[in-house]
Amino acid sequence: MKAVCWMGKSKVETLSVPDPTLLNPHDAIIKVTKTAICGSDLHLYDGFIPTMESGDILGHEFMGIVEEVGKDVANLKRGDRVVVPFTIACGNCAFCKKQVWAACDNTNPNAHLMEAAYGYSGSGLFGYSHMMGGYAGGQAQYVRVPFANVGPLRIESDLPDEKVLFLSDIFPTGYMAGENAQIQPGDTVAVWGCGPVGQFAIASAFMLGAARVIAIDRLPERLEMARSIGAITVDYSEQDVDVLTALKDLTAGTGPDSCIDAVGLEAHSAELQGVYDAVKTTLMMETDRPIVLRQAIQAVRKGGTLSVPGVYGGLLDKVPFGAAFGKGITMKMGQTNMHKYMKPLLERIEQGQIDPSYIISHRITLEQAPEMYKIWRDKKDNVTKIVIDPWA
Ligand SMILES: [Zn+2]
Ligand SMILES: [Zn+2]
Repeated sequence: MKAVCWMGKSKVETLSVPDPTLLNPHDAIIKVTKTAICGSDLHLYDGFIPTMESGDILGHEFMGIVEEVGKDVANLKRGDRVVVPFTIACGNCAFCKKQVWAACDNTNPNAHLMEAAYGYSGSGLFGYSHMMGGYAGGQAQYVRVPFANVGPLRIESDLPDEKVLFLSDIFPTGYMAGENAQIQPGDTVAVWGCGPVGQFAIASAFMLGAARVIAIDRLPERLEMARSIGAITVDYSEQDVDVLTALKDLTAGTGPDSCIDAVGLEAHSAELQGVYDAVKTTLMMETDRPIVLRQAIQAVRKGGTLSVPGVYGGLLDKVPFGAAFGKGITMKMGQTNMHKYMKPLLERIEQGQIDPSYIISHRITLEQAPEMYKIWRDKKDNVTKIVIDPWA
């Protein structure tokens, strides 16, 4: 089959590789019909994530048709159409039973690498390095899906792939960010970062009852997209724009009820990098990332909530914890508990409450993927979201 392979820093190639096979009785093989490139894939491209190996298949956002199932897979059969969550969960450990699926104890065979840094490891992930489990990704024609009784969500309706594909990561991730923001009807919510997760955080904030969403970014195409779903926008790169002042002005001086930091959305990398990378690289990342976190802590109203959909992994400098304490704010964060959100969000799509395909800017083939990684990394061609048809 054809697959998009990581071949080293800034080096991605579409290669012919062996088809995946069932390794365990609970595996399924999925014929991929659509897959996407995620912002966090750029960190693999840029070589920030340790424990990648030349030839690793990329991709954690994918859907397709069940080709083959292991003998212990009862929930799926050949021909079923499914979306697969990017986190892999066993469904049976204490964490899965508490619905904190992203903390699954049984799906990262290399958990010891994470435990050394964090005390405990989260779940395994598709296509995201050996320390996250070493699972082959879905930017390919076929993929092996372990724990297939638990993860894949069957799509029974005839909704096109593009409307349901983002249930694999970014829609649930944006929605959980909105839920973590503890939005009450009538609230004002500020969202930093209008990339794909930020977009779905904005859309979800409205679905959860926000009266107003203020979106902060600098890229015109992203701000335009945020406006198209009803957000007020602040371009922080404009001269004379001070984000904190703008937020105060827009909230009669009190500050937003909730703040969502969706700039950390690519933070898989920071998470690993903070621990394993050279001090120099870590510091370079950390001079950037806490800018939004600091701003959000400063901006949120007294007693408000800060939601962080991205993962900050290192030791952050100069975070105003005193302000957080002094204002009595709530902070919620963490990797997405995918399995909890996929079905309810599919129902919202089926009911026509949202069409997630609005964020797609590019539709490409597997052969075009290496070039698109480069174009996206360089922020050219107004890329917002890239979808791949592996059979085109
Ligand atoms: Zn993703
Ligand atoms: Zn589990």
